[in-house]
Amino acid sequence: MNPSQAVPFLDLVTPHVELEQELTAVFQEALRSAGFIAGPMVENFEREFAGFCDAEHAVAVSSGTDALRFALMAAGVEPGDVVVTVPHTFIATSEAISQAGALPEFVDVDERTFNMDPDALREYLEKRCSLSESGKLLSRRSGRPVAAVVPVHLYGQMADMDPILALAERHRLMVIEDACQAHGAQYFSRKQKRWFKAGAMGRAAAFSFYPGKNLGACGEGGAVTTNDADLAVAVQKLRDHGQAKKYYHDLEGYNGRLDSIQTGILSVKLKHLPAWNAQRRERAAEYERLFAACGTEIQGPYEPAWSRAVYHLYVVRAEDRQGLMAHLKQAGIGTGIHYPIPLHLQRAYERLGYKAGDFPVTERAAGQIVSLPMFPHLTAGQQAQVVNQIAAFLQPKVFTSRVALPDLLERQSKPTM
Ligand SMILES: *Cc1c(COP(=O)(O)O)cnc(C)c1O
Repeated sequence: MNPSQAVPFLDLVTPHVELEQELTAVFQEALRSAGFIAGPMVENFEREFAGFCDAEHAVAVSSGTDALRFALMAAGVEPGDVVVTVPHTFIATSEAISQAGALPEFVDVDERTFNMDPDALREYLEKRCSLSESGKLLSRRSGRPVAAVVPVHLYGQMADMDPILALAERHRLMVIEDACQAHGAQYFSRKQKRWFKAGAMGRAAAFSFYPGKNLGACGEGGAVTTNDADLAVAVQKLRDHGQAKKYYHDLEGYNGRLDSIQTGILSVKLKHLPAWNAQRRERAAEYERLFAACGTEIQGPYEPAWSRAVYHLYVVRAEDRQGLMAHLKQAGIGTGIHYPIPLHLQRAYERLGYKAGDFPVTERAAGQIVSLPMFPHLTAGQQAQVVNQIAAFLQPKVFTSRVALPDLLERQSKPTM
């Protein structure tokens, strides 16, 4: 935590200090056994994390980016295929698609959830693709076969999976979830009439254990979850030089393993994840109460009835974002933008040939979103400071009467010495 800040954007120190003894014990155990690569720590964590996601298998890998790349490759995405995703995400989503040899193509997001808009996906599949003579779905833009869809569960909320899965099934596409921000998020399938966890609905899913994620390592890390035993074995090979048995290489793979120490650390932290996610949900509800109480027109996150989000980020929209962020910074409040430049407008993707105006919902969002402080140890008092400052910026006159009044009354009622 940055001590000069009244409210940091994120506090990665407190949870680790609280668990210091257990975390240090992991390191000592690894030192004493020299169990640095593979072994029981890795296997135990994989079992526990699969259990947490209600998935049959989890394979620990070196990062979320590698998790997504290996999941796509293991699912059978071939070099030259198109993989459809959204432009409103972290670049790792499309990097993994390119690294798997495929070509990313984008569809716009939903105005309220910031996740893949199923209608935009339908429009893409039905109007911007055509069937080849052999019955393959070809993208008109690139002329290449469409193989898979990657919905991103952004900010800790799952994409609307029922219609996405139905469209994918109709067009014989694979669905690989980018669940890198959504450990523990849930989705109520209206079709199957039950709740699902992120990572248990697609053919496979990718998770990241980057330190700032809801479940973070003390370094880099990631995992693939799947209910497909063959796919799990394929990912195990890809992360370990294409071998299932030492020095017997079935294919060329990668060095994409996750350190045993990191998996031991993740096992310690996973025990706390349900409580941490519950705390994040409480903090989100508190923001909503505070915004309602001071009557700001701030637009908070939208959680549909079918969603239980885990609030990796708490994102609001502001017309004058630059002004608001500068005001909050001056008040010692940390903020972020996730993400300021849509992928289709990044220099790295000039070669894809998209232009401004191609994805209006994403582009509008990218110009207005602000991420407010959100972490399990955030206090209601800190949140009141954040909301008071936002109210002060948005409506300075209303602020003095509506928000500062209770404060003022409290101070006046205290006996003066
Ligand atoms: C963090 C993240 C990734 C990549 O994970 P790394 O572990 O940093 O490689 C991919 N997609 C999304 C949406 C992410 O937030």
